[in-house]
Amino acid sequence: APAQGYRLAGHRWPTRTIRYHNATAYKDAVRAGVQAWNASGAKVRFRETTRGKAALQIRYSGSGCGGSGSVGRRVHYRPTVFFGRGCESSFMPLIATHELGHILGLSHEDRRCATMSSAVGLRCPRAPRYMWRCRLLEADDVRGAIRIYGGTVKPLNPVRFCPLFAVPDPPVNVTLAYVNGSVDATLTLPEPRRLIPDYASPPFPELHYYRYPNACPAGAATGPLQRRSPDAYGTQTLSIDGFLPPGAWCYAIALAGSDRSTSPFVTATVLVP
Ligand SMILES: [Zn+2]
Repeated sequence: APAQGYRLAGHRWPTRTIRYHNATAYKDAVRAGVQAWNASGAKVRFRETTRGKAALQIRYSGSGCGGSGSVGRRVHYRPTVFFGRGCESSFMPLIATHELGHILGLSHEDRRCATMSSAVGLRCPRAPRYMWRCRLLEADDVRGAIRIYGGTVKPLNPVRFCPLFAVPDPPVNVTLAYVNGSVDATLTLPEPRRLIPDYASPPFPELHYYRYPNACPAGAATGPLQRRSPDAYGTQTLSIDGFLPPGAWCYAIALAGSDRSTSPFVTATVLVP
C-alpha cells in the first residue's frame, strides 16, 4: 500500500547472503553501507569476498560523483554497482548504502525521508554545517527490505548527524606585543583533525578571546567575547585589539570549532608602557 512507503522492483536475491567484491577505493564507505544493512534487521547480509567468488561487483564508472546499481537481482547480467571517482568521502557512505538498497530490490522513495530517495537527503532534515548524515538508513528503507526478505526492524541509530571535524586544539606559541597602539598576537593555529579522512575543506579558523586587566582569572572565561577570523591556519601575526591604557593586560584565547565547540583557552600577557 502507498501509505507504507518504499518501492520494490526487480527480483529478490535467492540467497540470504550476497557476496560482493569492491574494486574501488571507497572501502570504508562500502563497509559502512554493508554494516548498516546487515544490522538493519532485514534477513539478508552482504559479505565481502574475492572477485572470483563475488555475485555482486562494485566498480568505478567515470569521473564526477555518483552511483548506480541495478534494482533487484538481474538474472542475465552480473549485478554491478558503479561509483564515480570524484565523490567526497562524507557523502560516500550514504551513496553506498543507497546503491546497495537498489541491489536488494528497493526502488526510489521520494515521499518521505529515506536513504532510497532519488536525491540524497531529499525529504530529510538537512545536516548542519560541518556535520554529515551518519545515520545511513531510515525506517522506511528498512521496512522495504524487510518486506522483501523478512525480519524485524532494529532500532535506528539515534544519532542522525556526526561532526566532520574534531574539537580544535588551542592555539600554540602565543606571544603578544603592543605596537603603535595595537595588540598584535603571533600564534600558530592548528588545523582541526578530520573525522572523515579526506573531507576537503576545513571550516575557516575563528579565534575567540577575552581581555582582562593585570591577570587572567582562573576557570571559565567571562566578560565581552571578541572574535577574529584569520584567513588560514598555521603561524601568523594578527591585530587582536586597539589602544589600551598603560599596564599589564591578559588575553585568554581559544580556537572555535565547527559545531560551536571551542578549544581550551590559553593565556598570554602584554605590557602596555
Ligand atoms: Zn538510486
